[in-house]
Amino acid sequence: MYQLRRLLSASPVSTRLPLLRTTAISARMTTSAAPSTRKATPKPSPVYAKTELDVWTLMNQVSASVGAVNLGQGYMSFPPKDFIKRAAQEALNENTHNQYAPPRGRPGLLEQLGSRFTDRFGRSIDPSKEVSVHAGANEALLSVFTAFLEHGKDQEVILMEPAFDQYTPNVIMAGGKPVYVPLRVMSDKDPRESVISSDDWKLDLAEFEAAITDKTRIVVLNTPHNPVGKVFSREELAQIGAIAEKHNLLIVADEVYEHLTYGVEHVSIATLPGMWERTVTVGSAGKLFGVTGWRVGWAVGPEEFISATLSAHTRIVFTSNTPLQEGVASAFRQSPEHDFFEVQRKEYEARRNRLMGVFDDIGLPYVVPKGAYYLLVNAAKLKIPDDFEFPDFIIERGENFKLVYFFIKYFGVSGIPPTEFYSAPHKELANDYVRFAFCKTDEGLEEAAVCLQKIKKYLEETSG
Ligand code: GLN
Repeated sequence: MYQLRRLLSASPVSTRLPLLRTTAISARMTTSAAPSTRKATPKPSPVYAKTELDVWTLMNQVSASVGAVNLGQGYMSFPPKDFIKRAAQEALNENTHNQYAPPRGRPGLLEQLGSRFTDRFGRSIDPSKEVSVHAGANEALLSVFTAFLEHGKDQEVILMEPAFDQYTPNVIMAGGKPVYVPLRVMSDKDPRESVISSDDWKLDLAEFEAAITDKTRIVVLNTPHNPVGKVFSREELAQIGAIAEKHNLLIVADEVYEHLTYGVEHVSIATLPGMWERTVTVGSAGKLFGVTGWRVGWAVGPEEFISATLSAHTRIVFTSNTPLQEGVASAFRQSPEHDFFEVQRKEYEARRNRLMGVFDDIGLPYVVPKGAYYLLVNAAKLKIPDDFEFPDFIIERGENFKLVYFFIKYFGVSGIPPTEFYSAPHKELANDYVRFAFCKTDEGLEEAAVCLQKIKKYLEETSG
């Protein structure tokens, strides 16, 4: 509930003024203007009434307030390719593309998704039955949870930590109860001293199975993983799948970063023997085409699962927006002639290597991401000066927020505190880390590299 409150009280990300300041001002004005004989007014549910900011808005605001280089939220700071922008512009010019889409999605996009997943899954996917289009992957996830969980029955959903912060409120809104199993770093190396691989973050299968009860209904699997960058191997997926099968769990495979792997193959768990029958795979046009604001995502799975997911979707948002669905369909159609996905993958790999190089040079270790576009940097070697001052709104969110705040204020580069992806008992596992997103322009990464040089000096000064 705590996390849910925090998330749902977000203000628009575009707000440039620190919200904490504007809130304080409006609170003062309300207090002084309020007549003492004021009548009682309707009150929102306490679940949603609290105004604690979600991590994305908070960090964007702190970052903007000092003009830091923003490597926090995972949005692209570069524009979409011209053919992608044109695809949306042309879609808007078609009169028929400005009215409601069918709840399942526009036929042109469904057709593209049908053929994409027929190729990727090596089975014939019927887009009129086995695919649904959503208002982003987030809404696809909420719809799947809504379709599979019953309110009032305490049904449980296993989330592997770090777990993308939207999973928890989505599960709760659908009436379920999140149960957390952390990935464990299993390496001979000390991650505070040495670079490790995202492969070293592993699910302890015994711990996973021990978390399953007779109320467990779903396990969420995110590969490639945000924020670790782990790409689950075929063998790991088979082991997870076998446990899911033994306990008859639905697997919700969040594969929004499926197109971004570096030197390894992305394997969809739905392609493993017996797994299609228990999996819904979720994907995102925002991630695939670098257009996170378009809010177009999808779910793919057996007809019975998708029709329930579609029923939930129809009652949540009815349909997702028409012109951008058409834009995505057109972008898919044009991708082969631009060799778009391979060109894009190489661009991200270069950005990843650039950012890893910056931290190699500085001497702070990190987790080499095999997929997605985040770098987890271990900053245990940094000692924050004793006289460095933190505002209360950071102190109350814990040690990891203090670390990230220090990066923003002192070095001028913002990240995301990965403790936000953990439940309270496990937050300490991430206290040393800062997540940096590398879906950013070369100029932005260059600027960050320059700002971060200050760490080097700081380490040199403090190490002696
Ligand atoms: N998926 C993106 C990230 O992890 C954006 C998250 C968000 O804004 N809710 O940065």
